[in-house]
This record gives sequence, C-alpha cells and structure tokens, in this order.
Amino acid sequence: MASKLTLKQAKKLKNTRHVLGISGGKDSAALAIYIRDNYPEIHEKIEYFFTDTGAELEEVYDFLDRLEGYLGKKIERLTQERGFEHFLTIHNNFLPSPRQRWCTLMMKIKPFEAFVKDDPVVTYVGIRADENREGYISHKDTIQAVFPFIEDGLVRDDIFQILEDTVGIPAYYEWRSRSGCYFCFFQRQDEWLGLKRMHPDLFEKAKKIEKEAGQGYTWVQGKTLDEVVARAEEREKERSGYTNNKQSIIRWQDKIRYEAEDDDPEDQACIICSL
Ligand code: SF4
Repeated sequence: MASKLTLKQAKKLKNTRHVLGISGGKDSAALAIYIRDNYPEIHEKIEYFFTDTGAELEEVYDFLDRLEGYLGKKIERLTQERGFEHFLTIHNNFLPSPRQRWCTLMMKIKPFEAFVKDDPVVTYVGIRADENREGYISHKDTIQAVFPFIEDGLVRDDIFQILEDTVGIPAYYEWRSRSGCYFCFFQRQDEWLGLKRMHPDLFEKAKKIEKEAGQGYTWVQGKTLDEVVARAEEREKERSGYTNNKQSIIRWQDKIRYEAEDDDPEDQACIICSL
C-alpha cells in the first residue's frame, strides 16, 4: 500500500503528478466535487481518470459526462485493447471471484499503473471518515495516497449531500449498490435481478459466460444465475407481502441514503472498482 500524506503535504509537493480515479461510484465522484469546491489549487493540478473495463453499464458513462461538466475538466478514459473475454481465456476460463480477483488486477490496477508509469504520484482516495478500510491501490513505491474525507471528517451522509447538491446520485444506485462490471461477482442476489430487469441483454451475456466459459463454476458460488434470480424474485414477493402499504412515496435517492448499507466487509479490497 502506498504511503500516506496529508492534504497540506500534498499541496507542497513539486514535480509530482496528482491523480484521482473516478470509479463511477458515489464516493470518488463526491471526492472530485469536494476537491474542486474546497481545494481549487489541488483541483487545478489533478488528472482525473476512469479505468474502463469495457464491461461498464451505460449509466456510468452518462454519469461521467455529467461529472466532467461539473468539474470543468476532462476525465481521462483508460481503455483497454483487450476485453474481459481475452483475460478469461488466459486465465484458463476460470471466472474471477472474491478469492481470485484477477479481473481487478488485469482490468483496473495494471491500466492504472501504466497510466502513472514510474512518475512520482499522489493519488486522492475517497474512503470516508466512517469507514474502516484501507483499500488496495498499488504496491508501487512511487505512489503516495491522500484521504481527504478522513482528514476532513466527511461521512456517508455528507457524500449523498454533495451529490444531491451537484450532479445527482448515479442512476444505477436505484437497483444496484456499487459501480463496476455488469457481471461483478460482488453483486447481491437482488442486484442480479435488477440487472435482468434493467439490462436483459447484459444479464444474458453474463449467463452465456457462466455457461460456456465458466469451467463449471458460477458467478455466485453454488448457484446458476437463473437460480439466483429465481430466489431473488421469491424473496421480493415475500417482502412485498408485508411492505405493500408504506411503499413508494419515498424517493429512491432517500431510500438508499437513509436505509441502505454499502459497507460490506466483503468489499474491503474492492475500492478501485467501486469507491
Ligand atoms: S467490478 Fe467486480 S468484476 Fe469488475 S474488475 Fe472489479 S471486482 Fe472484478
């Protein structure tokens, strides 16, 4: 893990690149906005970037465009010549999983390291003051990290407020709790159901990968995607039995802000994808 710096120390550095990775998720976007609005001299220096795995939701691109407009600066898109299918082949068709995160290494960390090269770099990370995680960014010793939300004491609710006041909460949060690839194995069962409803074509693609290239493994351990979605539908019916009456007057933005949780300990190593 990169060594840590304070904002004050980072500001003084000379001959150093300043970078901020936008994942498409709420925290990194809020961080970029927070820096633009509160630390304009750092914002001036920052290179914003987005590592595109080629398996992103279209809502993420819409959100990036909006964010770019607000920031008034380009968000560099780091694209790859080869997509997920290529990496799956060179990993002998073993699907990535929480224990075998080759996808993050190949599709997120390596492109990031190619972008920063061996330059001295300060990276700004959107981990919040109410989170207990460090997150894996890179082992390169030319990279130092700054955690402005931790330093300035911003918590989850502050992040929602920043977004509500500026570019809005990314639309996919209505049915999904994080950014990242459409087939991400960190998805919850009801999020797979959300994918099926919102992007049936991508759901079918994920099923095809599972069936044809998965070597007998599945995205969710021990269940096919059809089984996962069937179970999620059952649970939805069970829940709707007793929540029917008080539903729907609450805006989805408020529902996720006040009712949902997104700090699953399983996500500890996932910040580069979903922060
Ligand atoms: S979003 Fe999920 S599938 Fe995509 S690179 Fe990250 S961990 Fe892997």
